[in-house]
Amino acid sequence: MQATLTFLGSGTSMGVPTLGCDCAVCASAHVAGSPNRRTRPSVMVSYGALSRGEYAHNVVIDTGQDFHAQAVSENIRSVDAVLYTHGHADHILGMDDLRPLSFHSPAGMPLYADDATADVIERIFEYTFRKVDRYPTSARVTMHRTSTAAGTEIELFGAKFIRVPVTHGRDTIAGYRFGAAAYLTDMSSIPAESLPLLKDLDILVLDALRREPHPTHSHLSRSIELVEKIAPRRAFFTHISHDLDHDPTNAALPAHIRLAHDGLKLEFEL
Ligand SMILES: [Zn+2]
Ligand SMILES: [Zn+2]
Ligand SMILES: [Zn+2]
Repeated sequence: MQATLTFLGSGTSMGVPTLGCDCAVCASAHVAGSPNRRTRPSVMVSYGALSRGEYAHNVVIDTGQDFHAQAVSENIRSVDAVLYTHGHADHILGMDDLRPLSFHSPAGMPLYADDATADVIERIFEYTFRKVDRYPTSARVTMHRTSTAAGTEIELFGAKFIRVPVTHGRDTIAGYRFGAAAYLTDMSSIPAESLPLLKDLDILVLDALRREPHPTHSHLSRSIELVEKIAPRRAFFTHISHDLDHDPTNAALPAHIRLAHDGLKLEFEL
């Protein structure tokens, strides 16, 4: 079925502009509308029969500190489920912003996370998940704990989201494949067991933090090598720091590889 992938945020954990930084990329990112202005990393997958000109279902991957601003700028009016990749601040701290959207879900808006990630979310938002004396207006969410096994499928509204494990420094975290697209944020490398899950992709989204190597994130030249190895039809880089100036970097990349930017929308087959 037809689907749209929206980049709600394409920036690294600190966001761009980076606070206190006077570099040229950060200076340009202070101008509204600059592709160098990058909020914390998140995507939304929209699909299903159209009603009132909108897709029937919105599935969000990660809710970082910028989720409220992202939802305002994309005019997100409903979220049907959230999948989490891992428990770092830039991927989970916006969970509380789901509150007004969750009040419409009598059964609770479903959140999907592995044990390590769910433990962090439930600890930080203890008042949301406690069984007794729950804070009355806390988010109406239900945590579904998922297996860490490669290829684990989560079925949501007629679409399958498949876990693709990726290496993030010392951790192994979740990437997701859905239809002909895969979203692999926060990865320093891709384990061999995950490669069979990445065949025949239209869209591959990879972490590409900066030019220099980093212990927990892939860098530009490594991500380009991974694109060549996995051979998707097109690739987009995300989790980008102030090291990469959008237009000059794109001009130097092969035509099938682009830096993502906040608000980028891609049509694909789900
Ligand atoms: Zn991150
Ligand atoms: Zn900077
Ligand atoms: Zn991380």
